[in-house]
Amino acid sequence: MTVDLHDYVATVENFPEPGVSFRDISPLMGDGVAYRQAVDAIAAFAKDLNVDLIAGPESRGFIVGSPLAYALNIGFVPARKGGKLPREAVSASYSLEYGGENVLEIHKDAIQPGQRVLIVDDLLATGGTINATREIIEKLGGIVAGVAFIIELNDLHGREKVMSTGEVPFLALMNY
Ligand code: 5GP
Repeated sequence: MTVDLHDYVATVENFPEPGVSFRDISPLMGDGVAYRQAVDAIAAFAKDLNVDLIAGPESRGFIVGSPLAYALNIGFVPARKGGKLPREAVSASYSLEYGGENVLEIHKDAIQPGQRVLIVDDLLATGGTINATREIIEKLGGIVAGVAFIIELNDLHGREKVMSTGEVPFLALMNY
């Protein structure tokens, strides 16, 4: 059985602030068929990329990345928000879509030089989150094998921002 994943995205107007249409993937995660279909589609994309590790930013990147890593029999590396990791970490800061700054961190020993890492998240908006994750992976000597999202918001041109730091294989399961 195949479902239309668009049916599992709830659009919430004026959240988290006036004028913003928030794409809520909770219904997708909450449905066993839709969730598996989304993860399997990203796993199929990953098959040809020779991936050693999955990385995902806190926190919805964990929801996409963990089952994906399990399906591919490889490890998962969380990019956590600043100050949460207990051991030596490498960080990168980025601007948030709705204003302000954030920091992401990855443990220094989580990625070995030359390892091929697929970055995943639920949604690509301006690209700041993904580029910060990429910056850390590359600081650690990792190679970004590709980037994959459940949703890409076309009007925010995140894909161009990602590609401006180097072309990588790209997958979005849905576009809005
Ligand atoms: P970016 O850094 O690309 O501007 O924003 C993407 C990040 O913000 C992702 O980690 C994503 O979880 C979150 N985000 C921004 N807008 C939305 C949205 O409309 N829906 C969801 N589910 N996440 C969003």
